[in-house]
Amino acid sequence: PPPLSSTRIHSSTTSITKNSSNTKKNETLRFLQPFLISNRKPIILGWLCSAISVFSLSQLVSRLGKFSNAAIDGPQLRSQGLILLCLVAARLVSGYGQHALLWDAALKTVYEVRVHVFDRVLERELGYFEGREGGASAGDIAYRITAEASDVADTVYSVLNTIVPSTLQLSAMMAQMIVISPVLSLISFTVIPCMSLFVAYLGQELRKISREAHLSIAALSAYLNEMLPAVFFVKANNAELCESARFKRLAQIDYHAKLNKRRMKAAIPQVIQAIYYGTLSILCAGSLLISRGSFDGHSFISFVTSLLFSIEPIQDVGKAYNEWRQGEPAVERLHDMTKFKDKVVEKPDAVELGHIMGELKFRDVSFKYNDDMPHVLNGLNLNIRAGEIVALVGPSGGGKTTLVKLLLRLYNPVSGSILIDNHNIENIRLRSLRKHVGLVSQDITLFSGTIAENIGYRDLTTKIDMERVKHVAQTAHADEFIRKLPEGYETNIGPRGSTLSGGQRQRLAIARALYQDPSILILDEATSALDSKSELLVRKAVEHLMENRTVLVIAHRLETVMMAKRVFLMDNGKLQEVPRSTMFNGHKDSLLSSGLVI
Ligand code: ADP
Ligand code: MG
Repeated sequence: PPPLSSTRIHSSTTSITKNSSNTKKNETLRFLQPFLISNRKPIILGWLCSAISVFSLSQLVSRLGKFSNAAIDGPQLRSQGLILLCLVAARLVSGYGQHALLWDAALKTVYEVRVHVFDRVLERELGYFEGREGGASAGDIAYRITAEASDVADTVYSVLNTIVPSTLQLSAMMAQMIVISPVLSLISFTVIPCMSLFVAYLGQELRKISREAHLSIAALSAYLNEMLPAVFFVKANNAELCESARFKRLAQIDYHAKLNKRRMKAAIPQVIQAIYYGTLSILCAGSLLISRGSFDGHSFISFVTSLLFSIEPIQDVGKAYNEWRQGEPAVERLHDMTKFKDKVVEKPDAVELGHIMGELKFRDVSFKYNDDMPHVLNGLNLNIRAGEIVALVGPSGGGKTTLVKLLLRLYNPVSGSILIDNHNIENIRLRSLRKHVGLVSQDITLFSGTIAENIGYRDLTTKIDMERVKHVAQTAHADEFIRKLPEGYETNIGPRGSTLSGGQRQRLAIARALYQDPSILILDEATSALDSKSELLVRKAVEHLMENRTVLVIAHRLETVMMAKRVFLMDNGKLQEVPRSTMFNGHKDSLLSSGLVI
């Protein structure tokens, strides 16, 4: 099935719409507040510019009437003209300053929101990324942090540009109008608010539609994020047509959602235009007053100019309102990612472990991924002495990798406890725990970057120790193939290390774990992708590095298992020790059926 079916889009849309109450609105504002405050400098400067701009405009408007007065003579005309020019220049320059500064504030705000959200997302527990704990798919998260955050910039700019600049201009123009002609002002002020109410109603509708558009594009992006990295698999299975159909369905949902949004957006300016036509009635009323002699032409020019310049801020208010309506769901979805309900959290009094011996105890550990799923681990017990090498075998899907994830505290056990040197891992700081436990996992993760960066991954933010990188690469028998690459250790290995073979990737992963120099090393089917020759080499390397280290080997091959002092069989969520002497006799069948290659 596609990552997000159309039914799911609609059901989640309605659920979000129902939830959004006033409290949620305030929450959106509260979420943005600290970021806006930290950008107060450009905001205040931008607003100052707008004040200058509005001041020049109102001067301009009131002087325009006088300028058209035929009574002024030559020199006065020149000086008045000069003043008008200066006012125009002041208005233009400060207008530029206003927009540039407010955009600066808006973009900087979004930059800070992005960094904040990304950091918080990285802190989330693993279950979040697997769609549990209110989690989201990688594509969805990527979409929120990229495209949706960009929408927020438009919203923030629009709102900043409205609260002060538009309000200032509107009040200045309205004041001018009232001074010139209270009667005409009254006519204008009844037309405009009616229109604004209608625009507000349309904005409400737009908000609902925007949500749907956001969800549909998120679904499309999630689909692409899942499919494109697997394009090899798609081609090998002749599945292009099937994928094309899936894409088409999601793209169609997005098309409809976007079309609805654009239609609504197209209606709003038309309503605003109606306000312009409303001003025509005022022109008629004005000329009537002039013909009766109760109003002079110069004042009328000033009045009409003021009126025209008061429509612009009203339009901006309407636009900002719509932008806010549209941007709010985006902010909400960004905010949602930062609200923690995680279970894997560090206790405030968690300890930092310095040097550890590497003793490991699992006590009655039970675990299941979901409440409605059976237990993966069921009262599991295991004691590993410091420096001991222990092997774990068992059928695929038996829970071996899950055990490792619990040790790294990527999840919390449902019951029972895990102890390192008699410290419950719940009381150890997460960074400290994960520093001492090294893992070469089944699914190897490499990032685009150089070989050296991938091996010294832990030191990326500081400085990679090249001597050590080379040393561990030699130990992991990776040095040989690395030297043959065009740029050796500085060769870029492409996205996800796609330019390397399975065995090469595995050796890099082993080198990376060695670089970490952990007290507890876990090899989770780490040598499964190697051919027998490389496996032998790596095993020898691993034997070296097992000195002074606790090692848990999860393996399929008997040779690998034979390195261990004790062997455990994972069975029904429990561990059962297999006496080495009976490995070829009594337990042979169960070992074989557990997938062990003898
Ligand atoms: P092994 O490593 O022994 O092959 P795993 O520990 O990977 O087995 O998986 C044990 C069981 O837990 C399997 O039935 C698997 O379907 C399930 N499982 C593994 N990972 C997850 C996950 N992230 N979410 C839900 N279930 C999972
Ligand atoms: Mg596994």
